[in-house]
Amino acid sequence: MVYDYCVVGGGIVGLATAMKLLEMQPGARLVVLEKEAGLSRHQTGHNSGVIHAGIYYTPGSLKADLCRRGSKATKEFCWNHRIPFETCGKLLVATNELELQRMNDLVERAKLNQIEVERLDAADLRQREPNIIGVGALFVPETGIVDFKRVCEGMAGVVRKAGATIELGVTVTAISESDSAVKISAGGREWQATKLIVCAGLQSDRLARMAGLKTDHQIVPFRGEYYLLPSSKNDIVRHLIYPIPDPDLPFLGVHLTRMMDGSVTVGPNAVLGFAREGYPKFSFNLHDVAEYSTFPGFWKTMLRNIQHGLKEMKNSIFKAGYLEACRKYCPSLEIGDLLPYEAGIRAQAVMKDGTLVHDFLFLETARMLHVCNAPSPAATSAIPIGEMIAGKIAGREPS
Ligand SMILES: Cc1cc2nc3c(=O)[nH]c(=O)nc-3n(C[C@H](O)[C@H](O)[C@H](O)COP(=O)(O)OP(=O)(O)OC[C@H]3O[C@@H](n4cnc5c(N)ncnc54)[C@H](O)[C@@H]3O)c2cc1C
Repeated sequence: MVYDYCVVGGGIVGLATAMKLLEMQPGARLVVLEKEAGLSRHQTGHNSGVIHAGIYYTPGSLKADLCRRGSKATKEFCWNHRIPFETCGKLLVATNELELQRMNDLVERAKLNQIEVERLDAADLRQREPNIIGVGALFVPETGIVDFKRVCEGMAGVVRKAGATIELGVTVTAISESDSAVKISAGGREWQATKLIVCAGLQSDRLARMAGLKTDHQIVPFRGEYYLLPSSKNDIVRHLIYPIPDPDLPFLGVHLTRMMDGSVTVGPNAVLGFAREGYPKFSFNLHDVAEYSTFPGFWKTMLRNIQHGLKEMKNSIFKAGYLEACRKYCPSLEIGDLLPYEAGIRAQAVMKDGTLVHDFLFLETARMLHVCNAPSPAATSAIPIGEMIAGKIAGREPS
């Protein structure tokens, strides 16, 4: 049979896209192909579980718009499908004058992004979060938490109910586009689809090249390492606690995150990975490393960010450095409080000139759309992203 749509990737972006395609075209013949034995086994299943409000992003940008709409849509989806979530709010804590200045800039940005924020002084902060110190803080009440794996299960349920198929354990190994269809091969099996959407996260550049697309970028894995606090510290914070981000860096900084099961994690950092899908510390994959180290953009970005990169690497190896970053705002934490927790790995697209891609990156042909960069907060924004992709591939923009 020739499918109307084939979606490669059973992470949140692939599933949201499948769901939106079926919503736009009820009865469409659609198949989702996922290489792992279960859904959301990579970025979507190894993240902080934060439903971001969208305060950080440039006002008027696609990222800001998708995040704001995504936050609302995620909560609605959870509500409708009985998936637990909590709108616990987050505090962005300034620990010095420079951060206070950056915090003031964020207040302006929040206003332009139409996101409600409340400014707290040191005493207000102490009252709200007795274990957190700072010279000031910004409270973002709309920020929430959810287990995005549960969201994916919900989306998969919607996709199957609409008559589509989700095939697990299928690693796509060849893609060829002709005038009439796209042929997708995996092992000895083959699928034909009128249109193909690839949402392959950490493997997205390889699948684009496999499909014959010319790419100017390379995926470089950046590990996001976490620690878990002992259960005796589950009440250490009431909200999510974030540092004020450094505008020159692409990641948000180590934060204290309350998880849906009541536990609290610390992290993630952002350290160069030596394997795209190797989660244990010191994982190494020669093919992955050889590929990015022969890409000119990799060395350019490394040189540009060398100081920060080495610091992150040092703090990844020595817990004491990691602890120091958290103790700036949570001084009662002790080294023994940092218990092991599984890392996540970000699929960071880097361009040939060494630019880190901060926004979505799509590559399109007549019958294919490849999502080549879907950075944080793509889990939060997945539903409107799926709608946008579905609109693009189905030949019309969403209303
Ligand atoms: C450490 C970390 C923390 C984050 N925190 C947050 C957060 O708190 N909030 C937020 O909104 N966002 C967060 N993000 C970002 C968010 O998790 C990702 O942007 C989002 O999950 C991307 O989803 P995806 O579907 O594109 O990719 P993925 O979830 O990686 O899915 C890609 C899928 O494609 C499959 N695939 C790959 N190759 C093939 C192949 N050849 N054949 C078949 N299938 C294939 C993979 O197995 C995988 O399941 C975080 C990310 C990380 C790493």
